[in-house]
Amino acid sequence: LSEKLQNALGKLKGKGKLSEKDVDIAMREVRLALLEADVNFKVVKDFIKKVKERAIGAEVMESLTPGQHVIKIVNEELTKLMGEKESKLNFSSSPPTVILMCGLQGAGKTTTSGKLASNLKKQNKRPLLVACDVYRPAAIKQLEVVGERVNVPVFSMGDKHDPVDIAKAAMEHGKKNGNDVIIIDTAGRLHIDEDLMTEIKNIHEAVKPNEVLLVVDAMTGQDAVNVADSFNERLGITGVILTKLDGDARGGAALSIRTVTNKPIKFVGMGEKLDQLEPFYPDRMASRILGMGDVLSLIEKAQANIDTQKALELEKKIRTQQFTFDDFLDQLEQVKSLGPLDELMGMIPGVNSKALKDLDVNEKDIKRIQAIIQSMTVKERESPDIIDSSRRKRIAKGSGTTVQEVNKLLKQFKESKKMMKRFTDMEKTMKKKGKFG
Ligand code: GDP
Ligand code: MG
Repeated sequence: LSEKLQNALGKLKGKGKLSEKDVDIAMREVRLALLEADVNFKVVKDFIKKVKERAIGAEVMESLTPGQHVIKIVNEELTKLMGEKESKLNFSSSPPTVILMCGLQGAGKTTTSGKLASNLKKQNKRPLLVACDVYRPAAIKQLEVVGERVNVPVFSMGDKHDPVDIAKAAMEHGKKNGNDVIIIDTAGRLHIDEDLMTEIKNIHEAVKPNEVLLVVDAMTGQDAVNVADSFNERLGITGVILTKLDGDARGGAALSIRTVTNKPIKFVGMGEKLDQLEPFYPDRMASRILGMGDVLSLIEKAQANIDTQKALELEKKIRTQQFTFDDFLDQLEQVKSLGPLDELMGMIPGVNSKALKDLDVNEKDIKRIQAIIQSMTVKERESPDIIDSSRRKRIAKGSGTTVQEVNKLLKQFKESKKMMKRFTDMEKTMKKKGKFG
């Protein structure tokens, strides 16, 4: 086949291959997104080069524009770079498993130690927290408070002992008490500081940890990379915990740190509360870094989950004004089966996590709405008009909500029905005028 013919066939079949121009245009956007997400400059450069090589000449998927296809490749490469799958803690085959927490002051070591202990407890482990920060005033007290809150014992010897001795004594104590995970909270430092570095190295030698987890504040962006690099060089970290991702941080630090240290990010801190520690999911972080939203997986998810037949039925009901609370409930469940709402919203381009905070849809709302509808009788769901004040009271009681909340839902339902009617009416008029369908 001549090249010309092949090109022509390519166009007929689908969209052909990605040209250098397609890739360049999309990559300009990607580059900006990465820099804006605070990814290290050199990391960006290397990454773009690598992805370009892979993308040029790739066959464009049927359903995508060339630009979207480039983004798809970028997304895949980003995910791969950050570790593909979540990375779990390594437990020692002969307990106790020792976890050494390190990092700069204020990064979140003490808080994260508590979160980790709480997590492990839920997995039926018997963790022990160890207070080795003897420098910061009230550091020991802080860990004790945290430990009490998650109901995990804290080993401390006050601030008059050497941290290495405390760590050693804690090991003995833990073994005697049957603790199978020992989490050592250490003193931070404002910058990489020789004395403290030596101290933590000594603790390291004394307790031979299974995990050396570096706690880094995601908000510090570029600095976090240098910190991670030094700690890794000096101590040989086994993993990273990225804290404060609930803030404005766009997660660029995750990519940079992973690239520079080649150590997995194991958890992310999503808030100050002690249950706000989550496993690190590379694919989610990739979409977050790109900021343009993971359009592809949104489409995939939607197609996989929404029953098209059901959707058609629903449409018919809307047209004929037979939309009931049961349909409403059905719809809610479908939305829910797509995954956590905020995650879903985050996949839509242009929606950022900050805006989400102001948004009044969250899973709690959905659960409440579900509870209210589920407390209605079949008849009430079909014809909400019969729901008078005594029924409202009953429904509120049954769903553990208030009459005001029930009222609000009824009003919303009525409004949306009205709106649906307006749409279908509009459609009818348009059709008559020959402007529609
Ligand atoms: P340490 O000096 O490394 O031990 O840091 P701390 O554990 O004392 O935490 C410093 C501050 O960061 C505290 O106010 C914590 O509540 C806060 N913090 C820790 N982790 C997170 C997180 O994931 N999100 C938010 N928003 N704050 C966090
Ligand atoms: Mg601390």
